[in-house]
Order: sequence, then C-alpha cells, then structure tokens
Amino acid sequence: MRHHSADEASAAADGSSVSNQTIPHMTIDSPEQVTAPHTCDVFVLGGGPAGSTAAALLAERGHDVVIVEKERHPRFHIGESLLPLNLPLFEKLGLEDQIRAIGITKYGAELVSPQRAASVTLDFSSAWDKAHPYAYQVRRSQFDQILFENCVAKGARAFQQCRVTRVNLRGNGVRVYARDEAGATREWASKFLVDASGRDTFLANQLGIKRRNPKHNSAALYGHFSGATRLPGKEEGNISIFWFEHGWFWFIPLRDGTTSVGAVCWPQYLKSRRTDPTTFFLDTIALSPALAERLRGAQLTNAVTATGNYSYQAKRMVGRRFIMLGDAFAFVDPVFSSGVLLAMNSAFLGAEAVDAWLRDPRMARPLMKHFDRSVRHGLRSFSWFIYRMTSPAIRHLFMHPRNPLRMQEALLSLLAGDLFRGTPIRWSLRAFKAVYYATSFLDMRRNASAWLGRRRAVKTAMADYLPVARRANAIVISTIPTGKYHPRHGQDQEDRLIQRK
Ligand SMILES: Cc1cc2nc3c(=O)[nH]c(=O)nc-3n(C[C@H](O)[C@H](O)[C@H](O)COP(=O)(O)OP(=O)(O)OC[C@H]3O[C@@H](n4cnc5c(N)ncnc54)[C@H](O)[C@@H]3O)c2cc1C
Repeated sequence: MRHHSADEASAAADGSSVSNQTIPHMTIDSPEQVTAPHTCDVFVLGGGPAGSTAAALLAERGHDVVIVEKERHPRFHIGESLLPLNLPLFEKLGLEDQIRAIGITKYGAELVSPQRAASVTLDFSSAWDKAHPYAYQVRRSQFDQILFENCVAKGARAFQQCRVTRVNLRGNGVRVYARDEAGATREWASKFLVDASGRDTFLANQLGIKRRNPKHNSAALYGHFSGATRLPGKEEGNISIFWFEHGWFWFIPLRDGTTSVGAVCWPQYLKSRRTDPTTFFLDTIALSPALAERLRGAQLTNAVTATGNYSYQAKRMVGRRFIMLGDAFAFVDPVFSSGVLLAMNSAFLGAEAVDAWLRDPRMARPLMKHFDRSVRHGLRSFSWFIYRMTSPAIRHLFMHPRNPLRMQEALLSLLAGDLFRGTPIRWSLRAFKAVYYATSFLDMRRNASAWLGRRRAVKTAMADYLPVARRANAIVISTIPTGKYHPRHGQDQEDRLIQRK
C-alpha cells in the first residue's frame, strides 16, 4: 500500500525508523514460514489497536487466537494523539513503559480561534478526576507495532501481509479466507470472529450493513513537518486545534521533532481542489495565519495524504459468531482524538464478552449487551460535541471556559475519555449542553447558518464525494517534497519552495 512506503521513507528521512530499540525482539510468523493453522478459537481480522488488544487479552486467557494483518508492522497509520484514559489500558496490557518511551507527553489541548488568533489551553489536570492529567502523542507505526508484538508475546498466532478476502458466517462455525503475500489462499475454521479491520469495515461491507452518518460528514488532508514551532516548556507536547473557515486543523508534536498537521474540512471544500494535494494542503494552511506562522520555515517530510473520513456506523456490532471493534463498527471524526481510546476500550469489553461466549454462549449474552451499550455510549458522548465543533456557540464556550456546576471539569473528563468508569459527569454535561442551546439562541443567525452549512455537508451525495476522495487518494504519495514551507503573505504559489514531481 502506498501509505506503507511513504511512512518508511519519511521514517528513514527523519531518522525515526522503527528499530526495535525499546521493543524486545521477537519473531512474528510470516505466511511463508509457518504451516497455516486450520482451526482456532478466535480469528481476529486486523492488527491495529483494537485487534491487537483483543488478541492479547483472549490469548492471555488461554484461547487459541489467530490474528491476520494485511500489511506488515511497522506501517503508517494516522491517529497519533492519545487520551489520558488510554493510560490505564496500557497498564493493564503491561505496556506503560514501552508506550511512554515512544511518546511525548500531552498535558492538554490548545484551541486557537480564527478571530485574532486568540487561544486557550484546556488542561487535563483540571478534569473531574485529577488522577489522569496527561496522555501521549505517538507515531502510530511504533505504537501499533508494540501492541501487535504484545499479542504475539501473549500467545496469539500472527500472520502479516495476509489479506482476508472473504468470511463465511453460515453454519456452525466461521470460515475465513485470506490471500497471503505469495498470492496463496489460506483458510481458517474458527469458533468466533472478531472484526477489527478499521475503516476498511470488512464485515459491515460484506454484510451490507454499513450506513453513512446522517449527522456528520468531513474529509481530511494531512502530512508531517520538521522544524515547526512548538509551544514552550511543559506544553510542548500539547495538541493544538486551529479553527478556520472550512473546518479545523490539528497540530500534533511527536517525540522525534516531527509535527503531524492535518486539515479536517467539509467535503465540498476538498472537492474544490484544482491542484495536487500538496499544493492544496499548503494553500489550505495559509488560510489559518496562526498555524501558518507556526509552520514558517518548516519542512514537509512526507507526501500529503487525503482521506475521506466521512462518518459511518454499521447497523449492528454483535452477531451470533462475531463482534466488530473500533473503526470496523463506527467512525465519527478525529477532532477529540478519541479513535484509539474507543477502539481499545471496545477491545477490552469485546474480549470479556468473547471469552465468556467461548465458555458458554448463553451466559455471554449480558456481556455482549454490555459491550454493545458501552460502545454506543462512548460514540454518542463524543458525537454530540463533534457535530457542533464548528458552530460559533461551541467555539465561544470552549474559548471562554467557566466552571459553574463543574461544567468545565465534566467537559475535560469527557475530552480525557473518562466515559466508562462511572465518573459522575452526566449532569454537569447536561448543564453545559443547556448553556450551549441558550448561547445558540442568543446568536441565532450565526449559529443557524453554521448548522445549515453542516447539513449541506452531510447532504453532499456520496456519489458526488467519493470519486473526489478516491481521486485525491490516487494522487497522494507520489512525491516526497523537501522544500521549506513559507506562509503565504499574498504572494503567489511560486513563493513556496516545495519541490514537486
Ligand atoms: C484523519 C484522521 C485523523 C485521526 N486522528 C486521530 C487521533 O489523533 N487520535 C486518535 O485516537 N484517533 C485518530 N483517528 C482515528 C484512529 O486512526 C482510529 O480510530 C484507530 O486507528 C482505530 O483503530 P482500529 O484498530 O479500530 O483500526 P485500525 O487502526 O485502522 O486497524 C485496522 C487494521 O486492520 C487491517 N485490515 C483491514 N482490512 C484487512 C483485511 N481485509 N485483512 C487483514 N487486515 C486488514 C488494517 O491494515 C489495519 O492495520 C484519526 C482518524 C483519521 C481518519
């Protein structure tokens, strides 16, 4: 896949290649080296955070687990900013030290409004429960490799560069067919299937149960820079979010000096692209003077990628012999960096339910229901804020944080991912939402127009939008630019020293 080579190239270029310095060496079966196992208790489709976590937990409980990944770790993946409540999960997996070693500490989020570039920092230490004051930003190639190797260390049998092509759920078991690196077909008979195929949504596609989110639609363009200006001192590792007229940007500092920058925008805006993705990305950055300033003199170290990250959800996540985890079930939007946490949390809940199912399917029913309810609760909690993130009212409330009825503490707990432990934030969040509605009412014209813009984005027909995303994806990663980025000061594009093919 193109992502793969681009990441390797950029890793080599910036000296951050994923050597196993902090990872104990271990051999992972490659399809050529092993004889295909024909049976297993659980087949895990996909070796991202959700799949690797579930495979580790199930193997640890003594089940015969096979995990199959279509790429080979380390491989590029977007989604580098983690949340504080990820840390207890790392601890449970015994990976806290390894993740700390590859991460930069993120104490909070800087929000930068488009007006006068005013900014505010939301600090996790002010959340309801003060016990989780920070998270990490990580290179996903390293992070995902650690999780994947962990499941192998716990006893899962892993196959890489092996793509699942078909699943048969009829009959008494699950049949899985895959194509390995050499082009040979492999077949497994499993008691249970865990679909953790991420945004490929393997099972939801095969079953025809994937649905576009009727309330949200967006797309992203992103790349890595070296030499970006970071926040000073302790805040160096904080994520920064810059709002702009077509959406918002992320600015995520990584440990090796690289900064991940992405624009999440309305699909109509992506559709307006008339230039190659790199030029379009840099032009888009120029629309946010505050971000452009932070990137003055910075160097783009990999090629720009475009992703149609329109939101979706499958109709169900539990079947008679399968569950879906993480992005394989649903994806909303990356604005609150919730994806990895939701994926890993669903893996913990899902593994618990599958473990029970393997012992006695009838006894597993309450756990399957709990899994389903908790996953939906997590998605719902973030979604309310995600849908409104570009509205003037929410921007106003975020930029002027106040804590009556502990609203601010509750909001920070939500942003930290503290949604699954019974922290009593519900009423304070309701109070926050009431204040949001009152604020929207007071400035009805501006908020209504923002709401209409969002509706328009959602209504952008998929038929209209998908080819654009595909075209963008087809062009990306064709070149690794090496020039310097200069914020545009009214000069034309030639002022930028980006080398292109
Ligand atoms: C633009 C963007 C920015 C984001 N930013 C953030 C962020 O800052 N923080 C955050 O927490 N989240 C972020 N996310 C979301 C995050 O990337 C995902 O939520 C997270 O990776 C989900 O984990 P997962 O294990 O469910 O899926 P994935 O990480 O996608 O893993 C799925 C795996 O399955 C494999 N696979 C797929 N199909 C097959 C097949 N047929 N056979 C074998 N293997 C297969 C894939 O190769 C992949 O390795 C972002 C997402 C996008 C689109």
